[in-house]
Parts: sequence; structure tokens; C-alpha cells
Amino acid sequence: MGTTVDPDLLLNLKKFGVEDAGICFNCGNCTAVCSLSTEMIPFPRKVIRYLQLGAKDKLIQSPEPWLCYYCGDCTETCPRQANPAEVMMGVRRYLTTQYDWTGISRLFYTSKIFEFFAIFLVAALVGLGFYAYHGPMLTDRVALNVFAPNTVIEILDLIMLGVLSFFLLSNGYRLFSAVMGDPGQYPPLSSSARQQFQNRLLKGIPVLLYIKEARGFVTHFFTQKQFGACGTHTQRVQWFMHLLIMTGYTIIFMLVVVGIRWFQRDEIYAIWNPVRLLGYYSTFAILYGTTYAIVGRLQKSKTVFEHTHSSDWIFLIMLWLTTFSGILIHATRLLEWPLTTYYLYVIHLMIAVPMLVIEVPFAKWTHQLYRPLVQYLIQIKEKAMKAEY
Ligand code: SF4
Ligand code: SF4
Repeated sequence: MGTTVDPDLLLNLKKFGVEDAGICFNCGNCTAVCSLSTEMIPFPRKVIRYLQLGAKDKLIQSPEPWLCYYCGDCTETCPRQANPAEVMMGVRRYLTTQYDWTGISRLFYTSKIFEFFAIFLVAALVGLGFYAYHGPMLTDRVALNVFAPNTVIEILDLIMLGVLSFFLLSNGYRLFSAVMGDPGQYPPLSSSARQQFQNRLLKGIPVLLYIKEARGFVTHFFTQKQFGACGTHTQRVQWFMHLLIMTGYTIIFMLVVVGIRWFQRDEIYAIWNPVRLLGYYSTFAILYGTTYAIVGRLQKSKTVFEHTHSSDWIFLIMLWLTTFSGILIHATRLLEWPLTTYYLYVIHLMIAVPMLVIEVPFAKWTHQLYRPLVQYLIQIKEKAMKAEY
């Protein structure tokens, strides 16, 4: 299959944090040390080669960037200081913008002005919405559901969920089309398998196989088990922190977006109530995980913390602030400080909503979907190659 050459590819990737790929002399050390690289899917050298050659099509169709968990081993052993781990991270940012059809992701990653403007705009809309439409502010008790009825918040949440899902899933479909789109790309189907799959749906592979393998997607999504396969103790700590943030984030997202009628109540649940316990777990998991990542990046304590793109800072800081303001609301509710609770609630949403609206479909959060999706697609292709269905 022909490849379109983009001579500016390497230059364009600089905006996404890829600084040193040009000095790589393709020795292959990085691929040899990467514990996630396999004979069938070798990386990161191959991805760097695509950049050097300007092979944009191949890069967009490449599953490899989503298989890297940014452990940093390859960077530590690179004789040219080409920083392959950071290259893989930058490529993931770039690919996120390529799969996003709206162009918002590209603006977000390449313009700090847009980054701050978009966050400020959504935050201002949330603040103005509360200013204009909030309910009575009772001061004899904390009555959050009078100030902001959970029935109204629920409707707004569901609208937001629908819109975010539309953008995220349509972008995810573009990734799916790219990764499954090129029969010459990894892993190539054998000619007999290709013959068998002629006239089948979904990129030449039977729909039944996608359904049968769906469990693999769920497993990768919730356990990040591929990351756990990275060998050293330090990498296992990284995996655990990543898992904490991911599970905490997913649980709290479900509680506040889908389960708000149970989560936002004026009566205080008993300590052993499952909703309260899930809330505590999420709070602890996100706060611990994000604090670890922020402190590590400030101290540059590991290879993977040495370079931080502005979009990473924004994601971590907004997630941390959302969690911290959530803790303050809980505290002021327990202390029975009504006015402080209402103001904190508005501030909390002015941080949380922009984070969700921008991060989920267009920025850092997308990898929560893209990583397990690519692992699932590879699993399907491997089964299809062996005609195991
Ligand atoms: S990134 Fe470094 S280790 Fe990897 S192929 Fe290039 S020079 Fe070798
Ligand atoms: S950062 Fe780790 S997982 Fe990613 S390519 Fe390098 S060694 Fe492999």
C-alpha cells in the first residue's frame, strides 16, 4: 500500500512534545528493552522511523503508540538521548488530534491560549448558569438539593453524557477505522484468512468475533493489565498509581453523572453506605494518584516525569482541584455551613465541568478508551489471523 509522505511531520510533532526523534540512529536498543514490545508488534523504534520518514498514514494506522505505557525504560537505555518514551507520549497526543474530527483537540494541544480560553469559557458558563438559575439558599440547614435540585442536575448530566459520548465514540470510531483499515499494517491477515473474510462486515472481520472478544476490552479497560506486565518494581508502582486514578475517576464519573440522585442527597449517609464508601474510595484514589504524579513531576524524580506537556499539567491540576473542592464540600456539609457549601459547590462544578467537557472527548482522557480499544482490536486481528472464531 502506498504511503503519503509528510516532510513536516517531525516538525509538526514538536508542538506535541516530540523534541528529539530526529537524532535517533535506529539502533533498536529501545525496542529490545521494552517489555511490552513483541516480535509481532515491535516498538518504539518503528514509530520513530515513521516520524523520520514522514510516513503520516502509517503513523495514523499504527497501534503501537497505544501499547506503550510510558515506563521510561527505553529512554534510559537510548545511546542518543532521543527520549523514545517521550516520543511515544507525544505521538499519542498527535494521534488524539488526528482522530478528533472537530479540530478542538488540535487547538487544545497546540495553543495555550485556546487551552485556557476553553476552560475559562466553560467555567464561566457554569458560574453564570448558577448565578441566574440557582434555587433558594436556605441558611438554617444545608439544603443542597434546594439550591441545586439533583433532578435538574441529573438532566443536565445526562445531556452532557450524551454529547461527550457522541464526540468520544465518533473519535474512537476513527481510531478503529485507522487501525483496522490497512490490511498491510500489523498484523497482516494471511491470504487464506483474507479470502475467508471477504464480504464480511467491519473491516473484513466477522461481527461475531468482535462480540466474542468484547470481554477483552472490558478487562483491559478496568485492569490496565498490560501496564502491570512491565517488569520492575518502579513500573509496578506506576501501574498501581495509574490504576488508582483510572478507577477513582471512572467510579466518581458514574456516581455524579449517572447516579447523582443517590450521590447528591441532603441527608448524610451512614458511614457504611455503599454510595458513601465508593465516594471515599474515589476521592482517596484520585487525590493520592494525582498528588503522586504532581510531586513526581515537580521533583522530576523519574525519567517519565522529566518532561511534562502543558496539557498534562492542566489535566492533573484540574483533577486534583476537583477532588479537593469535593472534599471541602463534604466537610462543610458535615459542619453544617450552608452558605459555604453552596459557594463551594459552584466552584467545584466550575472546575469539574470544563475538565470533563474538554478532557473526555478531546484530550488526555481519550487514552482511557483508545488504549483498551487498540488492545482489543489487536486481539481480534490475532484471532482472525488464526481463524479462531
Ligand atoms: S530511540 Fe535511541 S535506542 Fe531507540 S533506536 Fe533510536 S537511538 Fe536507538
Ligand atoms: S516507555 Fe516503556 S512501554 Fe513505552 S516504549 Fe518505552 S519501554 Fe516500551
